[in-house]
Parts: sequence; structure tokens; C-alpha cells
Amino acid sequence: MPDNAAERLDDVASRVRVCTKCELCRGRTLAVPGSGSSSAEIMFIGEAPGWNEDKEGVPFVGAAGKFLNEMLAAIDLTRDEVFITNVVKCRPPGNRDPLPDEILACRQYLDEQIEAINPRVIVTLGRHSMARWFPNERISRIHGQPKEFGAQLVVPMFHPAAALHQASLKSTIEADMLKLPRFVAEARESAVDDEVEEEPEQLRLF
Ligand code: URA
Ligand code: SF4
Repeated sequence: MPDNAAERLDDVASRVRVCTKCELCRGRTLAVPGSGSSSAEIMFIGEAPGWNEDKEGVPFVGAAGKFLNEMLAAIDLTRDEVFITNVVKCRPPGNRDPLPDEILACRQYLDEQIEAINPRVIVTLGRHSMARWFPNERISRIHGQPKEFGAQLVVPMFHPAAALHQASLKSTIEADMLKLPRFVAEARESAVDDEVEEEPEQLRLF
């Protein structure tokens, strides 16, 4: 296994591009492994590639992607500074929801991406990525509220496409997005605290 994050991501991407582990490989034009920085502090996980993403092989390039880009700009981030991917890497026919067995088949790639990047904050966009960390929750109840899972803070958010269909959600999503810099700062601080806590153990050795 490659030892640095960028190489590990490239390795995942090259396997995803030729993957035939689920039925979705049959209808795809291009698989969409994900894009962005291997040292990103924030990772966004959407649902599945749509029509545009399938043609370009890049996540969130359609209308939802344009909105996501605008929200990133509002917190002074570009797509190159974060990492963006999806729960399944190939487009479901007619943009139907991904099926549980497809999500399961694709899970290993997402696991490897999270492990390689080790982001401070994971943002789930929509219910399919939320379900991995919050299986029985409702997005309307928990959106924008971070929860700690091991080394990461996971923040569930509405899917940006939802705002395109339902104007009243737009400001909710935008408000949640504006909280992200604070969550990243908190996650940084808590990482520093953890390091400080480990120190007494070492001192006791001498
Ligand atoms: N919607 C998603 O969930 N992912 C994409 O990549 C594009 C649209
Ligand atoms: Fe493989 Fe995931 Fe594409 Fe299914 S969706 S073929 S598991 S890369």
C-alpha cells in the first residue's frame, strides 16, 4: 500500500475507475472517485454522481456543484483546499437513489479515502452519507450539529440539490456552511488538547 496520502488517494482512484464490484459499473460513462486536497481539513461526502459528473468524472460539477462552490467561497475556501466525494462513485441509472448493496460494495473506497486524508471535519451532504454515522436520525433534526466520531467531527447537512428544489432550505444550508470554520478550529484545538494529555505518561517514564 502506498505510504503517503496523495499516493493512497491516487491508488483508490485508479481502482475505482475500473471497478466492477456492483451493477452501477454497467451504466456509467466515467466513475467519479473524488477530487481535492489529500491534506484537506474538511471532506464533503455527497450521494452519487449525476449526469454531468458521469460525463466529466469529477464530483459536483452540475447545478448542485455550482451552489456548493459558492458556499465554499463564502467561507474563503476553494474546491482544491477541501476533498469532495460521494457514497457511490458511479452514477445510478436515471439518478435513482443508490441501493444498500451498492453503498456497501463501494464503502471500502470511501473508508480508504477517509483514512488517507484523515480530515478534521467530515460533512455529509444528504441522507445517504448521513446514514453511515447517524443511521436512525432525521436531517431536519440534526443538520448543522457536529458530533465526534474518533478523530473526526461529523457534521450532517442538507444536500445542496435540496436547496435547488426547495428555496426555503437555501438559507438553512448556507447558515450551516458558515459554521464550518468554527468547527475546524474546535477540532484543531481538541487535537492539541489530546497531545497535551498524553504528556504525563511520558514524564512518568523518567
Ligand atoms: N450530487 C451528489 O450527491 N454528488 C455529486 O457529485 C453531484 C450531485
Ligand atoms: Fe465499484 Fe463503487 Fe462504481 Fe459500484 S459504484 S462499480 S462499487 S466504484
